[in-house]
Amino acid sequence: MFSRLLSVARRQRTGRGWQNWSSGRSGAPAAEAHSVALPAQAQVVICGGGIMGTSVAYHLSKMGWKDIVLLEQGRLAAGSTRFCAGILSTARHLTIEQKMADYSNKLYQQLEQETGIQTGYIRTGSIFLAQTQDRLISLKRINSRLNVIGIPSEIISPKKVAELHPLLNVHDLVGAMHVPEDAVVSSADVALALASAASQNGVQIYDRTSVLHVMVKKGQVTGVETDKGQIECQYFVNCAGQWAYELGLSNEEPVSIPLHACEHFYLLTRPLETPLQSNTPTVVDADGRIYIRNWQGGILSGGFEKNPKPIFTEGKNQLEIQNLQEDWDHFEPLLSSLLRRMPELETLEIMKLVNCPETFTPDMRCIMGESPAVQGYYVLVGMNSAGLSFGGGAGRYLAEWMVHGYPSESIWELDLKRFGALQSSRTFLRHRVMEVMPLLYDLKVPRWDFQTGRQLRTSPLYDRLDAQGARWMEKHGFERPKYFVPPDKDLLALEQSKTFYKPDWFDIVESEVKCCKEAVCVIDMSSFTKFEITSTGDQALEILQYLFSNDLDVPVGHIVHTGMLNEGGGYENDCSIARLSKRSFFMISPTDQQVHCWAWLKKHMPEDSNLLLEDVTWKYTALNLIGPRAVDVLSELSYAPMTPDHFPSLFCKEMSVGYANGIRVMSMTHTGEPGFMLYIPIEYALHVYNEVMSVGQKYGIRNAGYYALRSLRIEKFFAFWGQDLNTLTTPLECGRESRVKLDKGMDFIGREALLQQKQNGVYKRLTMFILDDHDTDLDLWPWWGEPIYRNGQYAGKTTSSAYSYTLERHICLGFVHNFSEDTGEEQVVTADFINRGEYEIDIAGHRFQAKAKLYPVTSLFTHRRRKDDVELSDLHGK
Ligand SMILES: Cc1cc2nc3c(=O)[nH]c(=O)nc-3n(C[C@H](O)[C@H](O)[C@H](O)COP(=O)(O)OP(=O)(O)OC[C@H]3O[C@@H](n4cnc5c(N)ncnc54)[C@H](O)[C@@H]3O)c2cc1C
Repeated sequence: MFSRLLSVARRQRTGRGWQNWSSGRSGAPAAEAHSVALPAQAQVVICGGGIMGTSVAYHLSKMGWKDIVLLEQGRLAAGSTRFCAGILSTARHLTIEQKMADYSNKLYQQLEQETGIQTGYIRTGSIFLAQTQDRLISLKRINSRLNVIGIPSEIISPKKVAELHPLLNVHDLVGAMHVPEDAVVSSADVALALASAASQNGVQIYDRTSVLHVMVKKGQVTGVETDKGQIECQYFVNCAGQWAYELGLSNEEPVSIPLHACEHFYLLTRPLETPLQSNTPTVVDADGRIYIRNWQGGILSGGFEKNPKPIFTEGKNQLEIQNLQEDWDHFEPLLSSLLRRMPELETLEIMKLVNCPETFTPDMRCIMGESPAVQGYYVLVGMNSAGLSFGGGAGRYLAEWMVHGYPSESIWELDLKRFGALQSSRTFLRHRVMEVMPLLYDLKVPRWDFQTGRQLRTSPLYDRLDAQGARWMEKHGFERPKYFVPPDKDLLALEQSKTFYKPDWFDIVESEVKCCKEAVCVIDMSSFTKFEITSTGDQALEILQYLFSNDLDVPVGHIVHTGMLNEGGGYENDCSIARLSKRSFFMISPTDQQVHCWAWLKKHMPEDSNLLLEDVTWKYTALNLIGPRAVDVLSELSYAPMTPDHFPSLFCKEMSVGYANGIRVMSMTHTGEPGFMLYIPIEYALHVYNEVMSVGQKYGIRNAGYYALRSLRIEKFFAFWGQDLNTLTTPLECGRESRVKLDKGMDFIGREALLQQKQNGVYKRLTMFILDDHDTDLDLWPWWGEPIYRNGQYAGKTTSSAYSYTLERHICLGFVHNFSEDTGEEQVVTADFINRGEYEIDIAGHRFQAKAKLYPVTSLFTHRRRKDDVELSDLHGK
């Protein structure tokens, strides 16, 4: 049947095609640049007239910015936006993505009324099919999260699917999710409507005008060079879609924007004999790798194949995107899948196979924000085939960022600064996007890892640990051990243990945790970001006191846990800083803070040749010795007394370990357990590791990985930045008043906001939940993002979770809010409010009872409470 379909399609090629779909538009707002001179100056120049560029222009002008120029090398909306399938879907894995899509939906719905330009908006709803129970679990998780942010959706039976869409074969389905308010739209017309509204608000739009490069002086945007002359400007926004990567590199000071294009296909058919109604729901059959929507009474169907075709790796691309070559052989698996799902289509005539490049990013998330290298250089790109869905919301958040200095939501997951130049190699990108594109429809179970682009950054101990059974995960390009497979376990079987339920590394991690509790373990934590700040005088101390909330004027050798806060008091970073000498400090931050933290420090540090900031991440291997016998191992190796009397908690000293000198030993473990972090110059790494393992034998030493660390830190209520903390979380909201010194004798960023918060009370609070009626062997495991219910009302979401081998219960961390039952407004959250509630955690639609705690359950742990633990319990002030 496929060949018949194909032959029909071939005969019909001259028929009416996709080109007509969005043609005949009137009222295009662009001025033809060859006839109108460009302005010499502007506040903002936006490059790209696709959905992203026009959305940014629309929102900036709505927010009151006046002097905005939008440049488009071809015609408006003639990039990927022109070929978009027009599906607006809110069912996303990340809450921030759900919110962006929800906002886009509402915006596009009213654009026609606002601008008079028809956008083809039709509310169709979407149906997401599940062929397997695991897929249904994944949908149930999304369903729970959509509902709590006000997006209606429900899990439905195959029978109901058949009622909603008469053409679907439902026999192989176990269920589905219905999102009734999703829509379809003509994306090119949406872009034109946004451009038209922006133009009415004063934005000057020039098509057929190419940006050649951005001019930069002293790390700040000063203007753009175009093929029609220069424009001086303060801000530049790169919305150049698949061209963004090269445009970023074309400056004298290059901006790394890691994305890569792949070919993306969909087919269009002629109308059915009884044409499909315009409000027929869109269907996503992820297990079949396809999406299907109504198109002019017929079908539009595309998908994300297993073997995508990256394109333009050598940087070749056209000025204006054309429909690329049809490739029916390549499309055949998707076509077969479509015919399985809709057998009646076999006799339908295909009109066209559309093939257009779309950009994908290394982690499947879009890219927005300011460049870490060039101030005033913003980007909004890399949409992973969801640019229409995200366009409105993403444009709004970027505009807020530019106008207010920060967006109204935490967008760290999408921030350009989560990447560095290290993710920008063309080979890396080419390989990674070949994995990313199919992953869009692959089932994602807890703790899945990317398989491509691996072993880019490794510790000197990598081979050694690998030979001992290390299984690896990757963060910011760095390989980190998850756990160590004992010699008697089946390695291959373990690799396949992908499940929403109890994983089969459970026992392995249990024995690593046990060893951390009772003896001593070594975890290679070399991926941590490490900076040194030194000065000739007091400059280093002065700037750190201004940038951090805790008091860093401590005696040499002391370590301070502290937040790097923004004006709103939220965490830009959470780190530990050791005072190495009067004038030098060693800062340890999360692995993925390498670019973000560097950019923040650089932005706020004065130009002063007496003040030096150095990224020393690559210079040190970091070993975490966790456990009660760590002290014995180190004492033997250093011939120095390491007991708390001689080496108190949160203390740092350079000392010799074995033959190696100059090892920075710190009495902390990032888990609440006793032990030491060793920061070892890399040339000594192997020696120190060997010595530690050899001496440690008699104390029962073994290797451990990050899964053990995770279990230990979560059961001790240790929040981590990037998982539990973000730019909208303040120390007072997560029980860290002790890390804020409001009276340290000088102002610091965020102080004013914290003073106010202290007075007014907090509106959310990080809380620890111990699951009560959860059967670890039989029930679904929590992951993160699960809704929290208080007295039956939605109260927040979890941020991380782990099984506590000590408590023999699952633990979740998450923020509890106090939404007024009448108005939905947020109200102050007190310790009493937390303590008085009855809690449930929703895992894929099933609610489990949970006990809420504002401090760790120390009575169940054997070791003495640390200073931080004690202070944590003192936070019930408000
Ligand atoms: C086949 C296909 C189907 C899709 N279906 C959907 C869907 O159903 N739903 C959904 O949400 N998303 C979908 N997408 C994704 C969506 O279409 C894109 O993510 C979105 O259009 C990207 O918009 P953009 O503005 O970033 O890029 P583009 O639309 O490509 O715009 C970038 C613009 O920048 C211009 N430009 C580049 N360099 C310069 C320069 N130097 N000077 C001046 N101008 C320059 C280009 O000419 C171009 O017009 C689909 C994509 C494809 C390819």
